[in-house]
Amino acid sequence: MTARNGAGSGGNPPEPAPFVIHPHEALVEIATLLERERSSRYKSKAFRAAADAIAGLADEQLRDAASLRRRKGIGDSTFAVIQEALEGSVPSYLADLRERAGVEVASALRSALRGDLHSHSDWSDGLTSLSLMASAGRALGHEYLALTDHSPRLRVANGLSPERLRAQRDLVAAESGGGFTLLWGIEVDILDDGALDQEPDLLDELDIVVASAHSKLRMERAPMTRRLVEAVSNRRVDVLGHVTGRLVQGSRGTRPQSTFDAKAVFAACAATGVAVEINSRPERQDPPDDLLLLALELGCLFSIDSDAHAPGQLSLIDHGAERAERLGVPAERIVTTWSLERLREWTGRER
Ligand SMILES: [Zn+2]
Ligand SMILES: [Zn+2]
Repeated sequence: MTARNGAGSGGNPPEPAPFVIHPHEALVEIATLLERERSSRYKSKAFRAAADAIAGLADEQLRDAASLRRRKGIGDSTFAVIQEALEGSVPSYLADLRERAGVEVASALRSALRGDLHSHSDWSDGLTSLSLMASAGRALGHEYLALTDHSPRLRVANGLSPERLRAQRDLVAAESGGGFTLLWGIEVDILDDGALDQEPDLLDELDIVVASAHSKLRMERAPMTRRLVEAVSNRRVDVLGHVTGRLVQGSRGTRPQSTFDAKAVFAACAATGVAVEINSRPERQDPPDDLLLLALELGCLFSIDSDAHAPGQLSLIDHGAERAERLGVPAERIVTTWSLERLREWTGRER
């Protein structure tokens, strides 16, 4: 019960304050901003759970504080956020996050992006359902988003067996419509010898294949070069993911880039039409500027991807767009500025 309601002096109760932001929207926006700044996934999860807990409740139900507090999924912080929103203000938790998010990077290139070819759901190591990822992609204005969960060998990330990957197919298809398409894809591990960690026939059926190395990143230069060249020469591969594997900041610490003959690898990408990923995650910023410029010089295509592991991380492509623009990558060379139709011509290309 708010003070406002308690102040009634007979007659009609005063009108509740109009929302500046609805409590449900406030909880979802907080989760989204927490994800974007890549704070603990448990925090974001708690706000998403609270948003689910109040989804569809009528205003009177929301204003019944005692029963709201007892509802499963509502804790102290989420309860406080709901109360502040009900009182007609922007919850302070949200206001702080908005301030921390700071001025958004607005690059001309960002507005030319139509989609994203690298994202994860809770089928592997993502935070939420593929359905929530799809709605977030749609809300961002994307024409397409590729769901690319991990492959079997990446057990720590709950990589998908062929059976589980096949089971995604209809669920992914069901998310498309109204000008948005969820593409069925994979982030397939590049094995030590350059082979891909999934059944070839299954890779053929997918809309998008991103190939990335996640293990033995310290391999010697010659075998690492052979490994990457072998992978991008595989006609099933569309995008070479986070090519150097480096980590430049963040909770996982830092990791140096892999050593390989970048000229040979990018020349192979250019020859086979494989796009070099510009991975937008601030802790990756992969490839580094000098290698990105080399790939540009060698005629490679690029894909600006979020590698989002939560809905709020899809907007990280702002960073990738900013880098690409700063380094002078023409929009035309970035496959994620293309229409879905043109993208499909490219993935179906002869190689
Ligand atoms: Zn990866
Ligand atoms: Zn990934």
